[in-house]
Amino acid sequence: MKYSFKIMVAAMVVAMLLSSCAKQSHLSSDDTLPEETTKTVETTAKETEPEETTADETEEADADTTEADPSKIGVESITLDKYEVKIKIGESDMPWVTMLPEDAEDKTEIWKSSDTKVATVNEYGKITGVGEGECTVTVTSADNKKATAKVKVTVKGSATDVTYIKGILIANKTYALPATYNPGEDADAKAALTEMINAAAKEGINIYKISGFRSYSTQETLYNNYVKRDGQAAADRYSARPGHSEHQTGLAFDLNSLEQSFGETKEGKWLEENCWKYGFIIRYPKSKESVTGYMYEPWHVRYLGKDTAKKVYESGLCLEEYLEITSVYAD
Ligand SMILES: [Zn+2]
Repeated sequence: MKYSFKIMVAAMVVAMLLSSCAKQSHLSSDDTLPEETTKTVETTAKETEPEETTADETEEADADTTEADPSKIGVESITLDKYEVKIKIGESDMPWVTMLPEDAEDKTEIWKSSDTKVATVNEYGKITGVGEGECTVTVTSADNKKATAKVKVTVKGSATDVTYIKGILIANKTYALPATYNPGEDADAKAALTEMINAAAKEGINIYKISGFRSYSTQETLYNNYVKRDGQAAADRYSARPGHSEHQTGLAFDLNSLEQSFGETKEGKWLEENCWKYGFIIRYPKSKESVTGYMYEPWHVRYLGKDTAKKVYESGLCLEEYLEITSVYAD
């Protein structure tokens, strides 16, 4: 009995040792297995190069090697934020490009226009209208010629177009001036203003200019600041959106004070009664806001020339009514 017990104990110890051994060997085989597997895959990947490797093989090979690998993540597709562009001659537009997958290494874009007499495109995808017509602008991945996207381009009209109605240059909420229209202060308007200021001075009336010509970009800054301060709806009642300001024509002046109470001063009253004699009109008269699109501005005069200013003054109409046009933003 005593002997057999010893054998049993010995057997148990052996069994425990064996079990422990088995566990250890199992663990160690777990640790070493991936390395071996990866090495195998790596070899496989290298063996199959430069032939096409499957995505899985490439991934595993990349995970193990920090060394530069000739296989890389390529561009698979291109998407744009717009596939249609409508511009005028001289205007530009640029679609936003997304190349997928996001971690593609070479996202170089190749841009091409089907007709450079209609529109050109630069290396960044900036499309510029050259002549009226239609063409297609194509962007292709330099990395993968199969990844491509097309933009339908329509060029119509000229960015230097301005609107004259009955010979009168119009800038209001309906009719815009292009950003490129930058005439400066009109010489005739300036001479007429000087004449008016001198005539007023002889009557003891002090009229002076506080602003005249404003470029598109100056108006853009002004308007954006007003929108920030008062919100767009409020700003639209007293400030023009860029391209819609009469000051961009070089034919408008703000005089003395930007307060509506100016209309009640002797200078304001003199201006309202006499400015037509010098070729000007009060452009945004009282109670015409629904027609002109702007609040009463007793300080803002517009040069029309003496003949036309007289006709408009005598009609008792504002310029929009006189020309039978609207002043409403399209959006
Ligand atoms: Zn003004």
